Amino acid sequence: MARACIGIDLGGTFIKFGLLGEDRQTGARLQLPTPRDGGAEAIIARMVEGARKLAAEAGLGREDLVAVGIGAPGPADLRRGVILAMPNLPGMENVPLARGVGEALGVPAYLENDANAAAYGEFCCGCGKGTRNLVLLTLGTGVGSGVIVEGEIVHGSHDLGGEVGHMIVQVDGDPCPCGQQGCLERYSSAAAIARRAREGVEAGRPSSLAEVLRRKGDLDAKDVEAACKAGDALAAEVWDDGVRHLAVACVNICRVIDPDLIVLAGGLAGAGADLLGPVGEHFRRLHWSLTAPRTRIVLSALGDQAGVIGAAAVAWRASRQS
Ligand SMILES: [Zn+2]
Repeated sequence: MARACIGIDLGGTFIKFGLLGEDRQTGARLQLPTPRDGGAEAIIARMVEGARKLAAEAGLGREDLVAVGIGAPGPADLRRGVILAMPNLPGMENVPLARGVGEALGVPAYLENDANAAAYGEFCCGCGKGTRNLVLLTLGTGVGSGVIVEGEIVHGSHDLGGEVGHMIVQVDGDPCPCGQQGCLERYSSAAAIARRAREGVEAGRPSSLAEVLRRKGDLDAKDVEAACKAGDALAAEVWDDGVRHLAVACVNICRVIDPDLIVLAGGLAGAGADLLGPVGEHFRRLHWSLTAPRTRIVLSALGDQAGVIGAAAVAWRASRQS
């Protein structure tokens, strides 16, 4: 690989690294544990260590490394490259992460929200190649999302754009920790599907999931999917409710953005056709009749590498603009 950017994806457990060449070919990857006790200094040091290691492994000379892109969760001042807070990582308040990593490596570094980076990764190098408008929904613990309009990541006026997980899909619905009620992620995240099934069991609804809960002490979305396939009524109800609210969000996205693609990623996307089939059915039923639905709902092509590839793509884009 000649010239390349490095993408870094900061997670609570692992920091992932990946190379992206000028020709959009992906290169070597690396994953290191996230240091949880050393605060910002340890995080920056681990990022620099990983980036150097990856560059060395790929035989990348100092002049071949163009820039670094960092995808990170939580509120951030993206223009200044500063993490404002990370809910699951102590000591990360007001950290100038981009400057710290960039100065140590001697190249420009850029910060982006991790879900935005994943959306940009799918747009540039995954299932969104050749499209103009794309929305990615990561259905995991919550619902992360990134919105690409005319090839650009939507940040909004206050870096708060593209938060589809907190789109209200049920008026006066489930309270969300964000302070709203009826947010998408209260119904359609992997965690929400597991929680709602558990609540049904605990309320005394007859279900095969009662035995699973007793055995494992908890439920996950895969248990609900399996029970649903085996004909369990509670599991089917919870699964369909999650999928239906997801379809409502997809229709609302179409009314605002009219994207080429809505990409489903994260743990729940592992259900594949069991997710895509019913989402598509509800989507077509709920969609307006003024025109036929043209937005396609698809599964992520890059999986858990979307964030790291997207962060590198963000670095390429920013370095060409500066
Ligand atoms: Zn919310």
